[in-house]
Amino acid sequence: MHTAFEDILRRPELDREDIKVLLSAEGAQMESLLRHGLEVKLAHLDNFVHLRGLIEYGNVCEKNCLYCGLRTGNEKVARYCLSDAEVLDCARLAHELGYGSVALQSGERSDADFIDKIEYLVREIKKIDGGSLGVTLSLGEQSEETYRRWFEAGAHRYLLRIESSDEELYYKIHPRNDKHSFRRRVECLESLKRLGYQTGTGVMVGLPFQTLNHLAGDLLFFKQMDVAMVGLGPYIPHPDTPLYRHKDIIPSAKDRMDMTLKMIAVLRMMMPEINMVAATANQTIDPQGREKAIAAGANVIMPNLTPGEYRESYFIYPDKACVKDQPDQCQTCLDIRLAAIGHKIQYNAWGDSVAFTKKH
Ligand code: SAM
Ligand code: SF4
Repeated sequence: MHTAFEDILRRPELDREDIKVLLSAEGAQMESLLRHGLEVKLAHLDNFVHLRGLIEYGNVCEKNCLYCGLRTGNEKVARYCLSDAEVLDCARLAHELGYGSVALQSGERSDADFIDKIEYLVREIKKIDGGSLGVTLSLGEQSEETYRRWFEAGAHRYLLRIESSDEELYYKIHPRNDKHSFRRRVECLESLKRLGYQTGTGVMVGLPFQTLNHLAGDLLFFKQMDVAMVGLGPYIPHPDTPLYRHKDIIPSAKDRMDMTLKMIAVLRMMMPEINMVAATANQTIDPQGREKAIAAGANVIMPNLTPGEYRESYFIYPDKACVKDQPDQCQTCLDIRLAAIGHKIQYNAWGDSVAFTKKH
C-alpha cells in the first residue's frame, strides 16, 4: 500500500497543493523525493552532465538588485571588463577542454558599445573550429532588437532568472522603479522565446519573506512559461547589499540547500526533459552541493573559465566556490566527483535541451 506522499510522487500532473506537500518533505520522505527526481531524469534523459564554460565578462551593472554584490550602488567593488583577447582565449580554452559550450555572463549594460561588443564577441566565438562551440548568454534585460542581433550572431541559449515569479516578493528584493520592472522581465522572457532562443529562467531559494507558496508558484511559472532550461540556487546574503539586514530571518544554509534540492526534484517531475543547472551557489553552501543537485535531477554544470585575477571581483555573494581553481584542476575534480555518483560528462557536444529540441 502506498502512503499519501508516495501517491503524490506518482501523479502525472502536480497542482499547487501537491507541490507544497512535496516541498515540505523531510527525512525519509525527502530522500525518496530526491531519489525520484533522479529516476525521472534517468528515465527521460541519461546520466550525462553537460558543461558550459562560464566567462564572467564584466561586473559593471546599471541595476541595483537588493541582493547582489554587483549592484551599481556597491562602491566597494573594483569594476572590470574582460578584453576581447581574454574572452576569446577563454572560449578557445573551453574548446580545447572539450566543454562544447560557453556561457557569457555579466552585469547588465544596455549602452551601444556593450551591445556591439557582445555581437562581435559572439561572432568571433562562433568562428572557433567552424562554429563548434554552443553559446549561452546571460546578460540581463535587453530590447528585442538587441536579443535579435545577438541571436543572429550565433547565440542560441539565454538565461534570465525571474528571481521570484511573485510580483510582490519581486519588489521586496528589487527597487520599485522602471529599471527593475517585473513586467519587463517577463516580457524579456517572452521576447527570447519568440526569437527562438532556448530560454532559461530560475529563482533564488531561501530569500527573506519567501514562503512555500511562493516556491510552488515559481515551479508552476516555469511550467506555464514552458521554458527550455532552469537554474535554481540558494540565496546567499552579501554584506554590502541592502537585503543583508534580513539575514536573520532566512532559513539556515542547510535548509536553503535542502529546499533547492527538493525544488530540483519536483521540477524534474514536472518538466522531465528540460535542462537544469546545478548552480555554483549550491557548492558555496555545501562542498558536495553541485553533485547533490545532479543527483536530485539537474544535468548541467557551469565550470568557471574567468581568468583568475578577475574572479574575486565578480563578487555576487561571499565565499563563491572554485574562485581559486584553474580550469584543468576544475575539470579533473568534476570528472571524479561525477563518477562517484554514477554520472559522466558529455564532452564536445552542445548539450541542448531535449524538451526544446523535440518541440522545434
Ligand atoms: N546581470 C544578469 C542578470 O541579473 O540576469 C546576469 C548576472 S547575475 C550576477 C546572475 C544571477 O546571480 C542572478 O540571476 C541572481 O539570481 C544570482 N545572484 C545574485 N546575487 C545573488 C546572491 N546574493 N545569492 C545567490 N544568487 C545571487
Ligand atoms: Fe546586476 Fe544581475 Fe546583479 Fe542585478 S543580479 S545587480 S542585474 S548583476
